[in-house]
Amino acid sequence: MSLVSKQWQFIKDLKKLIDYIEKSGYIVTGGELWRHPYMQEYYLKTGRSKTMHSQHLKRLAIDLNFFRPARHGESASVFIEGKPFVLTWNISDIEQFGRFWESLSPDNRWGGNFNSFKDVPHFEKK
Ligand SMILES: [Zn+2]
Repeated sequence: MSLVSKQWQFIKDLKKLIDYIEKSGYIVTGGELWRHPYMQEYYLKTGRSKTMHSQHLKRLAIDLNFFRPARHGESASVFIEGKPFVLTWNISDIEQFGRFWESLSPDNRWGGNFNSFKDVPHFEKK
């Protein structure tokens, strides 16, 4: 399979993930998708990444910022269409989306399931 074909599969799976997130009542904003090798080197040097083999270098990974609906009495990070949301990096909030992502293809991996370095916002295709 060519790289472009793989990238297209990735984007189509991403569309399904975003639809699923929306149906679940969450909101996401986009972080990095493509990453320049210089930026990867910088992340490696500063401990934000452990590898120079990141799927971001191939446009086969994205980092998403998750906002869940605020609970009663909880202060909101942001209001979207008048509803309060809280920015979250908690594995317990996001693992349902990781499971969904991995169910779409045996090549899909969620960073929250990485063994060494938990990367909760990270969704990639091998
Ligand atoms: Zn990432």
